[in-house]
Amino acid sequence: MKIVAGKWSNWSGNVRFKPRGIAEPKDEVDLAIAVRKSEGHVRFPGTGHSFSPLNQTDGTLIDLSAFVGLKGFDPEREVASIAAATPLWGLGSLLHPLGYALKNMPDIDRQTLGGAVATGTHGSGLTLGNFSAEVASFRLLLTTGEVIHCSPEENPEIYAAGRLSLGLFGVMTEIDMKVRPIYKLQRKYFVHPTEELFRQLDGLVEANRNFSFFLFPHADGVVCRSLNETECHAPTRHSANTLMARGERRRIDEYVFAGISEAMRYVPGLMKPAHKFFAAFMGKRQKVRWSHEVYPTARTVRYKAMEYAVPYEKGGEVMQELAEAIRKSKIPTAFPLTFRTVAADDVWLSPAYQQDIASITVHQHADMDETQLFALCEAIFRNHNARPHWGKIHNATREDLARLYPKFEDFCALRRKLDPQDKFLNEHLAKLFA
Ligand SMILES: Cc1cc2nc3c(=O)[nH]c(=O)nc-3n(C[C@H](O)[C@H](O)[C@H](O)COP(=O)(O)OP(=O)(O)OC[C@H]3O[C@@H](n4cnc5c(N)ncnc54)[C@H](O)[C@@H]3O)c2cc1C
Repeated sequence: MKIVAGKWSNWSGNVRFKPRGIAEPKDEVDLAIAVRKSEGHVRFPGTGHSFSPLNQTDGTLIDLSAFVGLKGFDPEREVASIAAATPLWGLGSLLHPLGYALKNMPDIDRQTLGGAVATGTHGSGLTLGNFSAEVASFRLLLTTGEVIHCSPEENPEIYAAGRLSLGLFGVMTEIDMKVRPIYKLQRKYFVHPTEELFRQLDGLVEANRNFSFFLFPHADGVVCRSLNETECHAPTRHSANTLMARGERRRIDEYVFAGISEAMRYVPGLMKPAHKFFAAFMGKRQKVRWSHEVYPTARTVRYKAMEYAVPYEKGGEVMQELAEAIRKSKIPTAFPLTFRTVAADDVWLSPAYQQDIASITVHQHADMDETQLFALCEAIFRNHNARPHWGKIHNATREDLARLYPKFEDFCALRRKLDPQDKFLNEHLAKLFA
C-alpha cells in the first residue's frame, strides 16, 4: 500500500484522503487485533485500482501486503488457495509450475486477488465468469476478529453474497480459486468496419473464447481483440519480477496515445482525426503466449472509468447508442468505449447475477473533467436498467440498486448482521448499504 505524505491515493488520483491510522498486520492474529482495536471506520485496500471511493476513510486503513503467496493446492478439485493480497501479476508464476492457471483475467494484472474478487472484476468471454464466480471458498475475518470458512457447505449465505462484498462483511485472508490446466492463447487485434461488426457481433462472440472490442466513436472501424487457445509455440514464460515490471513500462503505442490524448485537452478538434488514427494504429497485431502473460496489457496513461452491464443481447444496441450520443455531444475524449462479455453467475451483487452480460466501459483522461461525459453515458445506461461495476465511477442510488439486484435487500440485512457497528462502512458505502 502506497502512502505519500500521510495520504492514500487510488490509481487514477480521483480518490485521495488522509487516514487517522495505518495498521500493518503480519498474520491473521495481528489482523484480528487491528480490526478490533482500530478507531473509526476501517478499510483495507488492495492496490487502489478502483475508481469509486471504496477505500476512503478518516479512520484506519489496514495494509494487507503481508497476505501474499500460494497457501495450498488441491489437484482433484482443481482449486488453489491463495493469500488474498497476492497481486495478479504474481499468480501465473505461482500456478504455472503446478501445471495450472486462472480461467480468465482482466485487462491488467496490477490488482490484488482480494480486490478483484471483492468487486467482481472480469475479463471477457461469454462462457467465462468473473473473479467472484470462480471462488470455491474463502477465509473471512469478521469485525469481532473471528475467522470463518465460507463455502457452499459452510456458511452458505455468506459464501453466496460474500464473494462480491466490497470488504463490507470482513477481510478475506485466503481465497480458494477454481483453476484449470495451463494453456496458451493466441491474441489477435484486427479492425472491423463498424456496421459489419454489429451485424456479426453474436458470431464473433461465439466463435472466439474471449472477444472484446474498442469503439472510438469518430473512427470508421472498430478495433477487435480475440483470444483463442492454441498449441502453437510460445516463448519461455517470464519471471514474476519481469511481469511486475512489464505492467508499468510504457510501450511505444502508449507514448503515442499519451501524447495525442494530452494534446487533445488543449485542441479538442484533434478528436476526429485522432480516433481514426488510433483505430488504424491499434489493429493488426498478434502473438502467442502462456495465458497469464497475454491477457493483461500495461496501462500507463491514467484515466477515470465508468462501467455498466446490460443483458448480453442488448449490448450491441447500447454501444451504438452511446457512440452516437458521444459523437453528437462533441465532448472531447481520446479513449474508446470498450465492450466485453461475462457469463451469468449466482453471486448476489454480481452484475452478471442470473444473466449473461455485455459490460461496457467509458473512459476519460485522469486530468480531464469526466462529469459531462459520464452523465451523458450514465443516462443511457439507466434507461437500459444497467448494473454498475462496483469498482468504477457510478451514481446509482440505494433505490436503483434494490431494483437492479434481486438479492440487494438480503445482502444489506446480512451486512447488518455481520457488522452491526458499521465498522466497515465509509461515506460512499453507507449511502448505498446502511
Ligand atoms: C487500469 C485499470 C484497468 C482495469 N481493468 C479492469 C478489467 O479489465 N476488468 C474489471 O472488471 N475491472 C478492471 N479494473 C477495476 C479493478 O479490477 C477493480 O476496481 C479492483 O477492485 C481493483 O483491485 P485492487 O486490488 O486495486 O483493489 P482496491 O481498488 O484497492 O479495493 C477494491 C475493494 O476491494 C476490497 N478488498 C481488497 N482486498 C480485500 C480483501 N482481502 N478482503 C475483502 N475485501 C477486499 C477493498 O476493501 C475495496 O472495497 C481496472 C482498473 C484499472 C485502474
